[in-house]
Amino acid sequence: MNASSVHTAVLKDSGASSDSPESRQYNRTKRWLGVADVTVGFGVLAVLLATGWSGTMRDLAERGASQNYPVAVFLYVAMLMLISKAIGLPLEFYESRLEHRYDLSNQNLGSWLWDELKGFLIGLIAATVVAELLYTLMRHAQEHWWIYAWAVFLGLMILLAQVAPVVLFPIFYKFEPLENEELKRRLIVLSERAGTRVRGVYKWHLSEKSKKANAALTGLGATRRIILADTLLDNYSDDEIEAVLAHELGHHVHRHILKSIMMQAAITLLGFFLANEVLRYAVERRNMFETISDFANLPLLILVSTVLSLVLMPLLNAYSRFNERQADRYCFQSVATVEPFITSMNKLAQQNLSEKSPSPWVEWLLHSHPAVTKRVSAAEQWAKSEREFAGR
Ligand SMILES: [Zn+2]
Repeated sequence: MNASSVHTAVLKDSGASSDSPESRQYNRTKRWLGVADVTVGFGVLAVLLATGWSGTMRDLAERGASQNYPVAVFLYVAMLMLISKAIGLPLEFYESRLEHRYDLSNQNLGSWLWDELKGFLIGLIAATVVAELLYTLMRHAQEHWWIYAWAVFLGLMILLAQVAPVVLFPIFYKFEPLENEELKRRLIVLSERAGTRVRGVYKWHLSEKSKKANAALTGLGATRRIILADTLLDNYSDDEIEAVLAHELGHHVHRHILKSIMMQAAITLLGFFLANEVLRYAVERRNMFETISDFANLPLLILVSTVLSLVLMPLLNAYSRFNERQADRYCFQSVATVEPFITSMNKLAQQNLSEKSPSPWVEWLLHSHPAVTKRVSAAEQWAKSEREFAGR
């Protein structure tokens, strides 16, 4: 091997396609944390059911509520959430330390704790609303509760998608309309070419908490908007930001939010059907609960939905990657050259310490986005076929 081939080999090795040991280690640790999180959550619910402690909690809730059913449901949900949070908190804390260890976080402990508290309260409100609805339906429609529950859920999902950008996200982050005139002009040109309009582009003050960069299309109808992290706006060229905008606009043009809600709706119907079957089995065959509307069975309901989402995760991720590729292609068609897309992808991967080429298994199981190396080579491929087309 001569000197120049060694040089090429080294260059290739440190090139865009390989990931640093740091990135590999960070992502591996994150994956193990994910596994631990699911295992612990699963374990808590299984133990509560197997030991009969869930029934004890129900008795406590009923006594505390002096037999008022809705109040008892609330007390039970609050106890369940407190137990899960107390057991899951060390893992969450470790995860936040991990972000600091890899220099990816700007959030201090006080702010983290405040976010945890807000998250817990929002979760408690949401879980209470859902549980009250479910058990009211079960009490009044023992046979078909799951179909009614599905219809109510569908309404809630659509409402949530609508209000999240204006009600939920601002609880954790500041947003303000984008002021950059040049970027606004470019977005208008992009939108006009697409024959569509996004209601707004917002600057997302992510840097208060994180060094990572991100962008997203959020909302439905009047709340539909593109959000761009300040960590992206401050460090990327206008051409690169335009590429990111074009990708997000691709999600809008292809109606990906609506399609995802429809996909979720189908899965939720399957979930409620299964939940009903499992609950009936537990009540009629195993005598685990006296009636289907005995809210001590809530851990079982959560277990069913967890198992279902784990089983369907590869499918949902494959669907998401399909959408991402569609949005990427939309971007290639809309911008003058794909170079800024390629540089922005590589910069994002580096800034977020994400793996550009994860193992195929990891990508297939866990990733909602195609590997950066694949997105980049798709862009290069697209540019190449464009040149061939122009040269003909
Ligand atoms: Zn996307």
